[in-house]
Amino acid sequence: MSPTPARACPACGHQRARFAFASAGFVHVRCVRCDTLFVAELPPPDQVEATYLAPDYHSTAEGQEQRMRSEADARARVLRKFGCRDVLEIGCGPGHFLDAVRELGMRVEGVDRARTAAAARARGHTIHDCWLQDLAPVAARFDAVAMWEVIEHVPDPKAMLISARQWLRPGGFLALSTPSSSGIPARALGARFPMVCPPDHLALFSRRGLTALLAAARFDPVRWTSFSGLGREQLRRGFQRFGLGSSLPGRALARGLAVAAELPVQLMDRAGLGSAFEVYAVAARD
Ligand SMILES: [Zn+2]
Repeated sequence: MSPTPARACPACGHQRARFAFASAGFVHVRCVRCDTLFVAELPPPDQVEATYLAPDYHSTAEGQEQRMRSEADARARVLRKFGCRDVLEIGCGPGHFLDAVRELGMRVEGVDRARTAAAARARGHTIHDCWLQDLAPVAARFDAVAMWEVIEHVPDPKAMLISARQWLRPGGFLALSTPSSSGIPARALGARFPMVCPPDHLALFSRRGLTALLAAARFDPVRWTSFSGLGREQLRRGFQRFGLGSSLPGRALARGLAVAAELPVQLMDRAGLGSAFEVYAVAARD
């Protein structure tokens, strides 16, 4: 297929991309160099901003609370193992990760304009109600900057990572997660991959693209894993949603398939082909 006119690749900066599919009125293209999938044309900035400021943005889906908290605990433990004492989280939402970090005895602050961040503030967390680029310069710098599921939302992820560097001590850690366009779920589902949800998500990074993005912002990855967050319950719901329906036999079949799929999903994650990446990277010294 012929190249489609598009903005430059938000991951590697390459100028040529090919048509992938259209979803919710947004044409998606794939970078011909790094294979990152992204919306060809950015929505207007006020539409992007409005997404974050919607009352229910970041609110945790029912039944997800426990899974999100255990994920946050595991991530906080990684940063403690790296010797981090203070952490800045960009896009903290209701504050699962802030709680996890604080409970391990580290200092933590959040940045988020979403209304759901009020819940974290009510539990005594320091939350900066601004965009990252407007964060007032302070003397303090952090051992780690975390951004879980953030870079896929922003029009210019490279500028955001460079901005994050300014809040790190030399040799500090960047911790991030983001959906993967290299994994089996993205490849198999195409436009039906649940992480394809413009204008909320503007780019889904390939492994190669994310590697290029980190290098451009001068971060060296030290730990890189793939995960899907798909336990038996999530798989069962997925099978029902993707065609089996809620009839009695449909539900029974979905339950059976979920049990059967659990091990293959674990193997897929271990092979680096899951639905998302989790990366820890060190800021190169200036
Ligand atoms: Zn690219």
